[in-house]
Amino acid sequence: MKQKRKLKTSKALSSIAILEGIVIVSMVILCLVKTDLPIVESILPEQLHGSKEYDVVLDAGHGGFDSGAMDQNLIEKDITLQMSKQIGKILERHGYNVAYIREGNAIDWATDELSDLAYRVEYANQTKAKLLLSIHVNSEEVNSGTCGFEIWGKGSDAIAMRFAERILSNIDTLGYTQNRGFKNQDDAPLYLLENTQFPSLLLEAGFIGSEIDAYYLRSGTAQKKFCEQVAMGIMEILQELEEE
Ligand SMILES: [Zn+2]
Repeated sequence: MKQKRKLKTSKALSSIAILEGIVIVSMVILCLVKTDLPIVESILPEQLHGSKEYDVVLDAGHGGFDSGAMDQNLIEKDITLQMSKQIGKILERHGYNVAYIREGNAIDWATDELSDLAYRVEYANQTKAKLLLSIHVNSEEVNSGTCGFEIWGKGSDAIAMRFAERILSNIDTLGYTQNRGFKNQDDAPLYLLENTQFPSLLLEAGFIGSEIDAYYLRSGTAQKKFCEQVAMGIMEILQELEEE
């Protein structure tokens, strides 16, 4: 489930439509939250303070008070954490440095969604990694067999697109479900992707309400294979970029 927080406050102030008013108020709140965040260094974990260079930062969506999507005894925040750990472990085994925004259930930096997102952005930017991958599970209602994975990113970011296309095609080789392709977030800007200062992507790993996707969303061998393909896609592009 993506947290759709639009960024740019618009010209719409003149409108008296109640809905627009609510949107604008939430944007203002978000700006305030972002501006008023504590000094970033003080909220980042110890391991980020060194001079270590990070290759990838993994963001396990949701956590703590925020369970994300839930269905079929599956909880999004648990799935995203499992996947983040598995993908990270593979990357580390191949010598890549990985930063994890969340390594357990707790998110002790925020009690609401807005400050949570702001923290994730600040954390990611501190790592100065080559890629941010945020992992989520789609919560949208499943109609007549809706299923599959998709990746959101900036259509204008060629490197991000390259990572996305490779990850998508790698997962597709498993034949588990539908490849829903790359989704351009410019059509519906996502706070996390808009504010990260390097290529960033949001993977919707599957539909929480889909029986087809549940096969690999729940922990087990299929989930492990799914994560392997994601990690392979990331490593292939990292290597290609190094060689260029
Ligand atoms: Zn989500």
